[in-house]
Amino acid sequence: MNEVLDTIVIGGGQAGLASGYHLQKKGLRFLILDASDEAGGSWPRYYDSLKLFSPARFSSMPGMTFPGDPNGYPKRDEVIRYLQDYRAKFQLPVRTNQRVASVERDGEGFTVRTMVGDTFRARTIINATGSFHNPYTPVLPGQEAFQGRTLHSSEYRNPEPFRNQRVVVVGRGNSAVQIGVELAEVSKTSLAVLRPVQFMKSRLLGQDVHFWIKLIGFDTFPFWRFGKTAPSSSAVNDSGGYKEKVAAGKPDQQPMFTSFYEDGVIWPNGRKEPVDTVIFATGYRPHLPYLQAIGALDAEGRPLHQAGISDVLGLYYVGLEGQRSFASATLRGVGPDAQFVVKKLLRHLKR
Ligand code: FAD
Repeated sequence: MNEVLDTIVIGGGQAGLASGYHLQKKGLRFLILDASDEAGGSWPRYYDSLKLFSPARFSSMPGMTFPGDPNGYPKRDEVIRYLQDYRAKFQLPVRTNQRVASVERDGEGFTVRTMVGDTFRARTIINATGSFHNPYTPVLPGQEAFQGRTLHSSEYRNPEPFRNQRVVVVGRGNSAVQIGVELAEVSKTSLAVLRPVQFMKSRLLGQDVHFWIKLIGFDTFPFWRFGKTAPSSSAVNDSGGYKEKVAAGKPDQQPMFTSFYEDGVIWPNGRKEPVDTVIFATGYRPHLPYLQAIGALDAEGRPLHQAGISDVLGLYYVGLEGQRSFASATLRGVGPDAQFVVKKLLRHLKR
């Protein structure tokens, strides 16, 4: 393709779609490239029972209200439908099956090549690929000897394959607790935690907690203006009676095990316990090798940026954890970040 676009957005999940919405509003010429065969991001790959941790009325993207009961917590499939409808409503130009393989400097702009051999040119780039494609799993002593099954929570779909097993879920965040609670109904399940799980009430003084977070401005507090990345909260939103279930030992909490042995795990007091499956709910890390050649990453492969504006002129991000605020990597947070980034990008294009 010889046409030089204003922008190429890499990734067609919520971050890419919100970017598209704001690019379109400014009348810019752009394309959204996505690796998968359907826009909408990683939601179809999340576990079956997933429920949002914010109610519908605090889960909308720019320009389109999340449908249904505003106080209800939408399920995974409702989010998938919402994102598909979002793309259709704004007729966002998403090219699917276009996994970006490399980004090169091309004069003042960029050339983007995809795995299927297509080439695109643009004056600016917004990277919006999330980090779900790169699950983080710590390597623990003795792991290679363990005869049971280990998996990352990104591979977990539902409790059925683990019925009647002894299962340990490593982690203390929303995914660890939601998965642990449903597994505990069919198997003997423990959460292995470095610190006890902290719960956040889902309602305070008759209002959803997100109402208060919004009211005090915590969601949008500009940590980046103070040279900081917004902190990520590990507190679990107790929208499913999780606190009560964990207190009742379904699942129980155990201090993180120190190592594996052939048949199971070794707890900090030295007790060996046979275990069938260990699930790591240990999060994700950005993985952007195609941006290495243009000098966009630090030695550990993390993007060099401030508030989503890369150190590389013309390159931007939307959807990075803590990019501008506490909510940056959430459905409700990508809109304001995309708007901010598009404003900066427009200024760059007009130079
Ligand atoms: P993704 O949804 O991961 O989309 C990225 C897109 O980029 C994908 O479509 C992928 O195919 C594409 N891509 C990747 N690499 C390339 C490449 N090289 N070239 C082209 N395309 C590429 N947030 C909330 O607001 N509420 C919640 O309740 C909530 N629950 C969550 C539960 C789980 C289990 C997880 C993991 C996250 C949750 N999140 C939640 C956080 C966040 O909203 C989601 O992770 C969301 O999917 C992130 O959107 P994204 O667009 O940034 O990334």
